Amino acid sequence: MKIGIIGAGMVGSTAAYAIGLLEVAHSVVLVDLDPSMSRAQAEDINHGMPFASTTRVTSGGYEDLDGAEIIILAAGVGQKPGESRLSLLSRNAAVFQNVIDAVLAVVPDPILLIASNPVDIMTSIACQLSGLPPHRVIGSGTILDTARFRSLLSQHLGIAPLSIHAYVLGEHGDSEVLAWSGARAGNMPLDAFAAYAGAPITGDVRTRIDDGVRNAAYSIIAGKGATYYGIGAGLAQLVSAIARDKRIVMSVSTETNGFDGFPKIAYSLPRVLGRSGVELDLMPDVDAEERSALERSAILLRETADAI
Ligand code: ADP
Repeated sequence: MKIGIIGAGMVGSTAAYAIGLLEVAHSVVLVDLDPSMSRAQAEDINHGMPFASTTRVTSGGYEDLDGAEIIILAAGVGQKPGESRLSLLSRNAAVFQNVIDAVLAVVPDPILLIASNPVDIMTSIACQLSGLPPHRVIGSGTILDTARFRSLLSQHLGIAPLSIHAYVLGEHGDSEVLAWSGARAGNMPLDAFAAYAGAPITGDVRTRIDDGVRNAAYSIIAGKGATYYGIGAGLAQLVSAIARDKRIVMSVSTETNGFDGFPKIAYSLPRVLGRSGVELDLMPDVDAEERSALERSAILLRETADAI
C-alpha cells in the first residue's frame, strides 16, 4: 500500500520512520510546504530502511500522491510550551482548507488520518471539508493517551501494557476521561487484578497515574519542545490496522456514532479498525461519573468548534 503524509515535521517524519520500520507500506510519500526539508527527511529516513525493511520513503508534491490509499494529515503549526491544544485551533484550521482540496484533487477517495492538533476538532473540520464519510476520516484522538495510561498501569501492576485493556476517551486534551471503571488486566477487573498482584490501586496511585496521563504532553514539551515518537508509533499502528484489515480496537476520534444525546463532534471512543477505516464504534463500559465527564468533554469540543 502507498501512504501519503502531508507535513514532514516532527510528527509526520516520525510516522514515516515508524511505518517504514514496521514495513506496513511499500511506499511513503512526504509532502510539505518546505520541499527542501521534506526531501531531506525522506532521504534520512530512507537511509534507515536497508537495516529493517523494503519500504521506500520519498518526497514530492501533491501529484506524487497518486495511487495512495491512506493520507496522514500532520501539517500545521506546532504546540508552543504551555499552549493548550485548543488554542492551536484557528491557526491550523486555515491550513487544512488548502491541504484537503489539494489531496482530493489527486486522491478522490482516501482514508484520512488526522494528526494535527487540536485533533478532535481538526478531524471534524476535515470531515466537513472533504465530504468523505465519517468512518474514513479518523483522528489519532486518544491513542497516545491510552498508550500512556496502559504504560503507567503496566509499571504499577507488573504486567505488559498489551495485556491491559483500559482506554482514555473523549477529547485528546485537558477534558479527556480515563475510563477506570471498565479497565481490565488480563481477564480480571483492574482492581481485582491489582489486589491479587499485591499492588492495590490506592487513591494516591490513581491520582499519580491520572496526572501522569493528563500532563504527559506538557511535561515532554517542557523538556524537549515537542512530542513525536509516541504519536509516530501510534500512527504507524493505525496504518497497519487499516492496511492489513487487522480489526484491532483503538481509541480513535471520529464523527461516527457515539452516545445518545451527545453533540455531533469527533471524539474518541474505542473503535474497530479495518480495511474501510472505522468498521464499528464500541460503547465503552463507563460508570455514571465517567459518562457525564465524557459528555462534558464532547460539549466542550462542540462549543469550541462552534466558536470558529
Ligand atoms: P509537529 O511537531 O506537529 O510535527 P512541526 O512544526 O514539526 O510540527 O511540523 C509541521 C509541518 O507542517 C511543518 O514541516 C510545516 O512546514 C508543515 N506545514 C505547515 N503548513 C503546511 C501546508 N499548508 N502544507 C503542507 N505542509 C505544511
